[in-house]
Amino acid sequence: PTFSELGLDTKILEALTESGYTHPTPIQADAIPEALRGRDVLGIAQTGTGKTASFVLPVIHRLARGRARARMPRSLILAPTRELAAQVSEQFEKYGKNHKLSMALLIGGVSFADQDAKLTRGVDVLIATPGRLLDHHERGKLLLTGLEVMVVDEADRMLDMGFIPDLERIFKLTPFTRQTLFFSATMPPEIQRLTDQFLSAPARIEV
Ligand code: AMP
Repeated sequence: PTFSELGLDTKILEALTESGYTHPTPIQADAIPEALRGRDVLGIAQTGTGKTASFVLPVIHRLARGRARARMPRSLILAPTRELAAQVSEQFEKYGKNHKLSMALLIGGVSFADQDAKLTRGVDVLIATPGRLLDHHERGKLLLTGLEVMVVDEADRMLDMGFIPDLERIFKLTPFTRQTLFFSATMPPEIQRLTDQFLSAPARIEV
């Protein structure tokens, strides 16, 4: 297929054309239509497969309508490291350039005051590492009860880094009505257990 057959809105298609991308990779071709239907997605894919755009594009599509309220982000993207979180935010900027989405990055090394000011204004896309997200939550600066969609990227690396308890805590702070897009390169038992508990009849896509 081409990107224009996947059901993405025209402003996203324009941004893709400007990036020079015409055809989705296999994970994108399978995951994007499922995500646009509102289904949970379990994507088993390595880096280099185009997995990042397979969640960034449907999240932008979903957030195109509506507006964020103070301290209640509409979407949350969890990444294991600051570097990965920063890369994800670059893709939101690139593909979301024709949308007016507000974004905040909650990672270590950035002042709480700056991050807090953004949260107060309201964010459509919150990108965070698990520890930093929970720090903000504990300070009472953040509510996850308004989340429409949550993404977990590179869950197997989060397991290696000891973040599974943090992930469980975060899932429990979010509403049952959220859509979940969950990505991991491998499916060890700890990750399988987490997806069994927190994903709802996901489309399982393995590339
Ligand atoms: P990822 O697996 O998300 O880290 O992406 C790997 C690389 O593939 C990145 O540099 C992307 O910019 C690039 N990429 C993602 N989707 C496409 C596509 N549909 N066509 C060509 N390149 C792509």
